[in-house]
Amino acid sequence: MTVSGEKTSLQSMNPLETALVIGGGVAGMQAALDIADQGYKVVLVEKTPSIGGVMAMLDKTFPTLDCSACILTPRLSEVSRHPNIELLTYSEVTGITGKAGDFRVKVLKKARGVLIDKCSGCGECVPHCPIQVRNEFDQNLGYRKAIYIGFPQSTPLVYTIDKENCIKCELCVKSCDREAIDLTMEDEMIEIPVGSIVIATGYELFDVSVYHRLGYGRFKNVINALEYERLINASGPTGGKLMRLSDGKIPRSIGFVQCVGARDVQKGVPYCSRVCCMYGIKNAVMAKELHHDIVKNVTIYYADIRAYGKGFEEFFNMSKERFGIKFIRGRVGELEEDNATKNIVIWAENTETGEFLKQEHELLVLCPGILPPKGLKDLAENLGLEVSIDGFIPISYPASNPVDTDVPGVYVAGCAESAKDIPDSVAAGSAAAMRASITLARGGDI
Ligand SMILES: Cc1cc2nc3c(=O)[nH]c(=O)nc-3n(C[C@H](O)[C@H](O)[C@H](O)COP(=O)(O)OP(=O)(O)OC[C@H]3O[C@@H](n4cnc5c(N)ncnc54)[C@H](O)[C@@H]3O)c2cc1C
Repeated sequence: MTVSGEKTSLQSMNPLETALVIGGGVAGMQAALDIADQGYKVVLVEKTPSIGGVMAMLDKTFPTLDCSACILTPRLSEVSRHPNIELLTYSEVTGITGKAGDFRVKVLKKARGVLIDKCSGCGECVPHCPIQVRNEFDQNLGYRKAIYIGFPQSTPLVYTIDKENCIKCELCVKSCDREAIDLTMEDEMIEIPVGSIVIATGYELFDVSVYHRLGYGRFKNVINALEYERLINASGPTGGKLMRLSDGKIPRSIGFVQCVGARDVQKGVPYCSRVCCMYGIKNAVMAKELHHDIVKNVTIYYADIRAYGKGFEEFFNMSKERFGIKFIRGRVGELEEDNATKNIVIWAENTETGEFLKQEHELLVLCPGILPPKGLKDLAENLGLEVSIDGFIPISYPASNPVDTDVPGVYVAGCAESAKDIPDSVAAGSAAAMRASITLARGGDI
């Protein structure tokens, strides 16, 4: 086995020395690092221009309120600098054949319009681009140019041209001293031999606009939790100032609505998304941390509080005792917008006291449940797998093989299997890395 770290041509990799990781969130990054540290080659395929996944969008992490970027950024550079990891960002797996020890993987490398080896990430091109569109990394609350990086720590730190919006004016091309921009670049299909595979494609959020009564998309001061994360993030569109979208004012009263789309067999999904209680409490605390002189009332409307992890119950109690967060058990019914103030008036039943409540908040945050990402079913089919009833990748024996799928040599990590928090996603990444490495070590004979 080669442990040299030299970049081998992808097509001629030895499958018994190479693993594929699909998805570059925190789970996939951990899997890639652990496989690579054992001396194997890893091809890490990420569909967006940068690795990092949802963790890169978060401000703080529960229950310790550690800075998300401070934990993630060193890991991003570790992955990008690791001699055994080949990073294929802005790429997607389109087909897989073969078996453990000898898979053939077709990967579509989308044309970035920028040469990875030449771009230094200096950003000189950006002011020259005349096109401004919403930045999806900021949940469409901020703007970016048609030549862009999603966030400052994007990895690789290489710009991408958004073909849909580029008008081919070539001003960016002329501005680039390094001649790194090539608007004629085309998509490329490559085939890579690998011996084992880790699926780490993460999740997407439930679309809260499904609940018309909750006003998302109709009322400016109703937002979802990931939008809130971007608003309180120092590198987000407001520089970390929590503002109402209607008037830019810091809200004095904030409501958080839990379980939007989760545990709802009618319009949502039946399962619990596991992370929403804790991220709701975290974000309630953050409002007080950031603007304690202005934010006076923070109320969480919940069904149950599932503070199941280490330090979670203590964090929940601290949010009440130290930060004065109010908790009301009860689902929110109707809500409406006050025409003059744009405040949100909600009606909810307190299911502990039986009281019907009318409350007014200057900002309402909906905390959505977690869904399998679009395309997971097709990817699973390519691998000879069926997704489970909830749409995630099933595992063969949860108690004894928690990262093994039904296809030998194919493993799953993080939220691709089910909703998980960051520590559990990282642990699953390491576990899947171990299983994928064992498959390689045994020559695919598992
Ligand atoms: C609002 C909010 C706040 C949160 N706060 C916390 C917190 O404070 N603490 C905590 O522990 N957890 C928190 N979480 C949960 C946390 O986001 C997840 O635990 C973590 O992101 C899971 O990592 P992952 O790698 O499994 O998935 P993801 O972060 O979703 O990464 C998956 C990656 O795979 C890529 N991908 C998807 N499909 C494909 C494909 N077909 N091919 C190639 N690439 C693909 C995606 O682009 C993405 O980069 C929060 C979640 C939300 C919604």
